[in-house]
Amino acid sequence: MACIGGIHCIKGNVNTQDMAHKLEKIIYPNPYHIKISVAGCPNDCAKGHFQDFGIIGCTKPVYDIDRCIGCGACVKKCKGAATRVLSLNDKGKVDKDPAAALVAGNA
Ligand code: SF4
Ligand code: SF4
Repeated sequence: MACIGGIHCIKGNVNTQDMAHKLEKIIYPNPYHIKISVAGCPNDCAKGHFQDFGIIGCTKPVYDIDRCIGCGACVKKCKGAATRVLSLNDKGKVDKDPAAALVAGNA
């Protein structure tokens, strides 16, 4: 199964339908009744965590220092809901602690 993913959902990072159709052709039919799901983002509406094999579409953010206005929203979000590796420096730009990021698997 797959959620609606990137073709309709504003949260979708990947085309879940396309991936599910490709997987279906590769996997089925098979004698093991394996359950696979594809979710378009970490909200995981397709319940990938409950399947035999779950795929969750993610993005790897790229920091563009020239476009950063130093609002601190990413730092706040990182502190509250993620790995706490971001901080605002005295120039109003974002620093990422490379050691902490490495430990968090996010270098
Ligand atoms: S898992 Fe993400 S992309 Fe898929 S329907 Fe839910 S919010 Fe949308
Ligand atoms: S501080 Fe973070 S959220 Fe704000 S503009 Fe810079 S990168 Fe974007």
